[in-house]
Amino acid sequence: MKKNTILPEPYKIKVVEPVRLIPKEAREKAMKEAGYNTFLLKSQDVYLDLLTDSGTNAMSDAQWGKLMVGDEAYAGSKSFYCLEDAVKEVYGYKYVVPTHQGRGAEHIISRCLIKPGDYIPGNMYFTTTRLHQELAGGTFVDVINDEAYDPQSEFLFKGNADLKKLDKLVKEVGAKKISYITVGAPVNMAGGQPVSIKNLKKVSQYCRARDIRVVLDAARAIENAYFIKTREPGYASKSVKEILLQMCSCTDACTMSAKKDAYANIGGFLAMNDAGLYEEAKNLCVVYEGLHTYGGLAGRDMEALAQGLKEAVEKDEWVAHRIDQVRYLWQSLDDLGVPLMRPAGGHAVFVDAKAFLSHLDHELLPAQSLAAAIYVESGVRTMERGIVSAGRDPQTGKNRKPALELVRITLPRRVYTQTHLDYVAEHIGLLYKNRKQAKGLEFVYEPKYLRFFQARFKPAK
Ligand SMILES: *Cc1c(COP(=O)(O)O)cnc(C)c1O
Repeated sequence: MKKNTILPEPYKIKVVEPVRLIPKEAREKAMKEAGYNTFLLKSQDVYLDLLTDSGTNAMSDAQWGKLMVGDEAYAGSKSFYCLEDAVKEVYGYKYVVPTHQGRGAEHIISRCLIKPGDYIPGNMYFTTTRLHQELAGGTFVDVINDEAYDPQSEFLFKGNADLKKLDKLVKEVGAKKISYITVGAPVNMAGGQPVSIKNLKKVSQYCRARDIRVVLDAARAIENAYFIKTREPGYASKSVKEILLQMCSCTDACTMSAKKDAYANIGGFLAMNDAGLYEEAKNLCVVYEGLHTYGGLAGRDMEALAQGLKEAVEKDEWVAHRIDQVRYLWQSLDDLGVPLMRPAGGHAVFVDAKAFLSHLDHELLPAQSLAAAIYVESGVRTMERGIVSAGRDPQTGKNRKPALELVRITLPRRVYTQTHLDYVAEHIGLLYKNRKQAKGLEFVYEPKYLRFFQARFKPAK
């Protein structure tokens, strides 16, 4: 059997940042003080920070250089026009509204397009996206295909929307009651699983025939384009850049968290082809984000973001290496028998916490417990993506019980090395051997919105 290795890095390291592994007793204390929520740990107590790939990327020397040329004008900043040009070139939409990050764009589009009582179908929920839809008076309806809920299924495009589910909703409520459909590509909550271009084209055709807008959640669309290139027949010879433009041409608008694909530490935007929507979004931008030529961003951040976007598609090696790092960690854990969401996805390895801690009831929060245990065992910070993240149904107030109960081990871009990944695999492998010791957690504090960020827990009795 060929040894598991990673593609060589398409970069070398110019600046280093020390990391520190504090002793196990100190980790136990830190986890307890953080209420067993990895979001509440101090980063100085974390050895390898695999909480998220959001804003945690290493910028290139060219991006750092751009910080110096940022134009900090309140109005009409040159850096905004630079960002606008980059977005148009990379994604192909006509109009661009900058926002401080992805949820700023989600807020604005939800306010513009959702009327109370509307429905917003999507290929699985995302936490902030769904909340903004609900706050605008809408109801999210999941139309992802069933394979997405089966961690064992090896289907290569588990992110695909199910046209039958979409059609059922349209027949039930009528197209006029549907504000738009959101297509996340790849799907964060389903293990970073991609959407095929074939599926995107079908969704587009279906929606265009009924005057329903298609909104792309573009946070990691470049990674999705790479999966199309490597997994979908007929795309191997196309560049990621070409495929991304094809993906976007199937949609009418996008919300973007530039803290992901764009190698930036902050930023986002809303982009669209409809002049009317642009006018309204631009106007709401002034209310919630800042003038439409900065949207809550410093000029230098817009420069770094624009540069990052261009880099991300300039050569396929960048995204290829990133996806290969994820695959390497996935393979290393799979070799140790750790139950995983299959196949390896985009930005993270997702551990199947239900299978890992199969002795725990769902109400004992298996993924939350596992994320806490991983930190205490190794100093590695990961994140819960299960019953805690799913929150409560706003109508009934009951816990939503998602089919997937996962721990996300997320890889920031251009930050960690193969040796780091080996450390992660080894320690999670050790934990798996001692898995029966985990007792589960219970809530002691639960905030109203997006509870996973700030909730506190204690060991269950
Ligand atoms: C991160 C993310 C968002 C929200 O973006 P923020 O920049 O964190 O506000 C929306 N959708 C997906 C798929 C994301 O991963």
